[in-house]
Amino acid sequence: MLSIIISVVVGGLLGSAIDSGYSGRLSTYISGPESEAIALFSPEMVAKGKGGWRGEHAGKWLYAASKAYERTGDPEMRERLVSVADYLLSRQEENGYLGCYREDKRYYHRPSQNTMKVDWDSWIMAYLIKGLSETSVATGDPKYADAALRIAHFIHWTVFEQGIKVSQTGMHCGMAGCGMLDPLCDLYRLRPDPELKQLIDRCIFEMDDEPNLQLITLLGKDYDVSLIGNGKIYEMNRCLTGLAKAYQLFGGENLLLACTNAWNCIQSMHLTTLGGPWGGINICLEIFNRPAEWAPYEVTETCSVMEWMHFTREMLKITGDGKYASELEKSAYNALMAARAADGNRWIYYVRTNGEFGPGYDWSCCWSSGMTALEDIPVYMYDSGKNGVKVNIISESSAVLSVAGGEVALKETLPYAFTGKAEYEFSSAESAFPKKPFSFSVHAPEWALGTYSVKVNGQSVTASVKDGYITVKRRWTEGDKLSIEFPYEIRCYTKTWEFRNGGAREHNFSNWYNGFKESFVSFAAGPLVFATDHLDRFAERSPLDLSSDELAGVKIIKDSPLAPVVIGAGQTTLRPICLMPAYEGPQSRFIWFRIDE
Ligand SMILES: [Zn+2]
Repeated sequence: MLSIIISVVVGGLLGSAIDSGYSGRLSTYISGPESEAIALFSPEMVAKGKGGWRGEHAGKWLYAASKAYERTGDPEMRERLVSVADYLLSRQEENGYLGCYREDKRYYHRPSQNTMKVDWDSWIMAYLIKGLSETSVATGDPKYADAALRIAHFIHWTVFEQGIKVSQTGMHCGMAGCGMLDPLCDLYRLRPDPELKQLIDRCIFEMDDEPNLQLITLLGKDYDVSLIGNGKIYEMNRCLTGLAKAYQLFGGENLLLACTNAWNCIQSMHLTTLGGPWGGINICLEIFNRPAEWAPYEVTETCSVMEWMHFTREMLKITGDGKYASELEKSAYNALMAARAADGNRWIYYVRTNGEFGPGYDWSCCWSSGMTALEDIPVYMYDSGKNGVKVNIISESSAVLSVAGGEVALKETLPYAFTGKAEYEFSSAESAFPKKPFSFSVHAPEWALGTYSVKVNGQSVTASVKDGYITVKRRWTEGDKLSIEFPYEIRCYTKTWEFRNGGAREHNFSNWYNGFKESFVSFAAGPLVFATDHLDRFAERSPLDLSSDELAGVKIIKDSPLAPVVIGAGQTTLRPICLMPAYEGPQSRFIWFRIDE
């Protein structure tokens, strides 16, 4: 569906996170050319060889700040955006190179056959292409897209004239290099340039040609993502986002098959209960586990959450299937909210379902990724077009949308996350309210299929369900209200931990079955996953196990918004354990409870 969104203002839980991210990291971490993350590109710092991977923050910030400016129209944000982008343009070299590496350290000098030794130069350039492309869209100034194209032309020259392989410009079996496909596709929408197209084709070719990767072929054969390349979650999701964008631009059934298989594989076997792609068993915290390997100490890197959401958004655009919207909503309310600190500045690097927070620091990749993922939410909360409006994430919000030849102002004011209820009120915007009938569709959350009620102006209506959206089509008039109520009941999810050896760290789990078996349960209500703040980690187990009697006593206390779920409530012989939404909690989180059998 072609989306014509005029404005979206998000409220509620997600809205306050977006607002604090805006006044926090987005406005303070980088505020002009003198900010440290931008000063890395100065001649002095480049000469000292101080930049390194930290240069990626510039491109991520340009992208997020552009989205924020498009959303708010805040002249101060525009000023910051233009001053940073102009400074970076002033640092672009004659040949098009723009980065923070000293000349002798750049990717185009003798790229190593051993990709593990390659640095982050082309990665940073790719993020600058992404950031400058979006800056051009936000400001309407073509010079930023022109500069992005000059970077792409420089990379093109090194690849096609100097014989450098894109896959060898970055680590992780070529995925860090070939992931530039995503920003190249963003830029192609602005500049459909033949050399850019050649570079895009080259990235796709090398993702498959690299013997250690063969991403498209192996996904086409439905290989598990953990068995492809080195299974690095962030970089693989970035490649998949790029492939999904390339499919939308140029077609290619093999690309769509690879993306569809990858998404289904990750969604069914590699997401935490919070909706983030996770790894860490046996190898490294940032690499997919082998299928079926599970432990209650699930770990998600916040960068991977951002990229999983980007990939899922592209699959939603391709298919229009509400199951992708449902996953976006789950990740936004849980994996993303659980990764942020209330001050809008800090983010958690490693989000654990059970365990302590791993906060990282100012330069952590994840701090800029969390900030970016927040700014994306208003962009995909709604889709609208000729035939109707689609709600992809249900949340308090107001929006002005172009639909059916007119304009509609929408308002949702009920706290859906805490009640399962939403009410959309239609009113007129600046242009005329549509005279023709149009459809209004709300994605059906995967947890509430078949159990909701829909009313228009207080009267029950029968809504059709198609492609994962609950749809009412009628001639809407100003003042109409559509309300929808999903059941807000406790849901229990159970899992079995079957693989453990004697290692002291969570990535030392065994990958072969040795007779060990424990059952675990987690709790959710509406779109939220719940937790308590007891400390439970691999090396120091919490004694807080649940009996089946206690499990039977789980209930919701309606008037306790901070800890609305209580285990053992109303049973005087049992200890009550209060649960709160998983994003609360000062230092640690405890989502998976061991069942005492
Ligand atoms: Zn990260």
